[in-house]
Amino acid sequence: MASNNFPSQSHLLVIIIFITTLLTPITTNTSPQPWNILSNDNFAGKLTSASSSVEAASIDFGHVTKILPSAVLNPSSVQDIIDLIKLSFDSQSSFPIAARGHGHSFRGQAAAKDGVVVNMRSMVNEDRGIKVSRTGLYADVDTAWLWIEVLNKTLELGLTPVSWTDYLYLTVGGTLSNGGISGQTSRYGPQISNVLELDIITGKGEIATCSNDMNSDLFYAALGGLGQFGIITRARIKLELAPKRAKWLRFLYTDFSEFTRDQERLISEAGGLHFLEGSVMLDHGPPDNWRSTYYPPSDHLRIVSMIKRHRVIYCLEVVKYYDEFSQHSVNEEMEELSESLNFVRGFVYEKDVTYIDFLNRVRTGELNLKSKGQWDVPHPWLNLFVPKSQISRFDYGVFKGIILRNNITTGPLLVYPMKRIMWNDQMSTAIPEEDVFYAVGFLRSAEFDNWEAYDKENMEVLMFCEDAKMDVIQYLPYHASQEGWVRHFGPRWNTFVERKYKYDPKMILSPGQNIFQ
Ligand code: FAD
Repeated sequence: MASNNFPSQSHLLVIIIFITTLLTPITTNTSPQPWNILSNDNFAGKLTSASSSVEAASIDFGHVTKILPSAVLNPSSVQDIIDLIKLSFDSQSSFPIAARGHGHSFRGQAAAKDGVVVNMRSMVNEDRGIKVSRTGLYADVDTAWLWIEVLNKTLELGLTPVSWTDYLYLTVGGTLSNGGISGQTSRYGPQISNVLELDIITGKGEIATCSNDMNSDLFYAALGGLGQFGIITRARIKLELAPKRAKWLRFLYTDFSEFTRDQERLISEAGGLHFLEGSVMLDHGPPDNWRSTYYPPSDHLRIVSMIKRHRVIYCLEVVKYYDEFSQHSVNEEMEELSESLNFVRGFVYEKDVTYIDFLNRVRTGELNLKSKGQWDVPHPWLNLFVPKSQISRFDYGVFKGIILRNNITTGPLLVYPMKRIMWNDQMSTAIPEEDVFYAVGFLRSAEFDNWEAYDKENMEVLMFCEDAKMDVIQYLPYHASQEGWVRHFGPRWNTFVERKYKYDPKMILSPGQNIFQ
């Protein structure tokens, strides 16, 4: 039996890699640091240490960290990014570099302490950046683009990407570095399953085009790779003909097992719905402060009293797209679907909206919160993947246990299933082993003086799952120590480390993820 005093295989690998890195001969010129490359002609007018730029790059949507870089690069070309990474890689003391998409991380993941933050959005240029192939049904997109911009461009040609996030003001590079999930994932897979090709600048400053057939290891490493293996500058995204409208229904449940049984059955049916999500409504706080488009006011009192009675209720949300060819059958299909479900009868939520209004539904809530000064506040979010076999225990111990007891959680609380088969094991994102697992999101808004209470609650949830050996994995992960990351990736950790050594041996990229110190 192996003694616990021996380092594990993965620890040994890290140690070997660390020693090899130290022994790697360094073929370098000088040792530029961010503050002394400011005068480098290559970056004239693009690299700045102005406090406004540096301050802006030090915070993110989470508003719970402040990590100052030394400088910010506003690249106007891919070559600018190559030059910057090469400069760091070739120097004796490399400096950290992080791509920053739209800065919608929660914990400084796009930060580069004392290094250079690359403001990817400065690459956006109306004249280039998205080329649509109608025949190939794909779009070549600069990854600095927001998904809403990609949608608007492709819709001009009657086409659309198929897999989305709930919120579209995120960059293509940012979501592909994580996964990109929402109610479409059960049918189409995450966004990273809908990419055909990437251009990536590795941590050595080398640019490569990669796909399933070309440099496939780098391709899969970068998908869900948390920015660790390279800066993705172009993505070829699958497209389909765009539907015109969306039929959008919600159903309320008081019984969690009925709710999950219906969800699981619906995602197992081929060709059915285009979108399926679920949420939890609690006996405290506003039911959902983002999605104002809820039930008609006449239902409110009855819903509130149902929540009071049961303390926790659940809401299933489904969508079917349609166009002029399917408009006659869609109502009938949705009626049949309603009849087959075991929800609480008597509450009607049915909307018929344009395709773009459905996809961009969170924007209204965002603008509403912004107008009230409630958008740029701390967001101690927690997102988890929970194996199907554990979801009832999770409901009992977390939603009906910790969350009700602490009585502080507000904001959307999502819970919906997805199928493992829609993910590719070679991609970097860590997911549970079971065929079906649930995405659970605690999307909280807090105040600057109370966010730590939510963070404590997050820890409580994580500890509960760990003690109960539920094999829960964080999505959009944050781990304070490398030990946490080793557990996070489990059997994929060795591959993750090998790829890091191969593509970013000097550990230059995305240090804010806190994986490799
Ligand atoms: P950033 O925060 O700027 O960067 C994130 C990470 O990616 C950093 O490590 C950064 O260095 C790296 N990175 C950025 N660009 C590149 C690139 N081009 N190449 C390589 N690495 C890069 N996620 C979902 O999956 N589904 C959702 O429905 C969803 N909804 C959200 C709603 C809101 C309001 C918010 C704030 C976030 C949501 N997210 C969702 C999470 C979001 O997908 C991630 O936080 C994503 O990283 C944000 O994209 P960004 O462009 O702001 O990335």
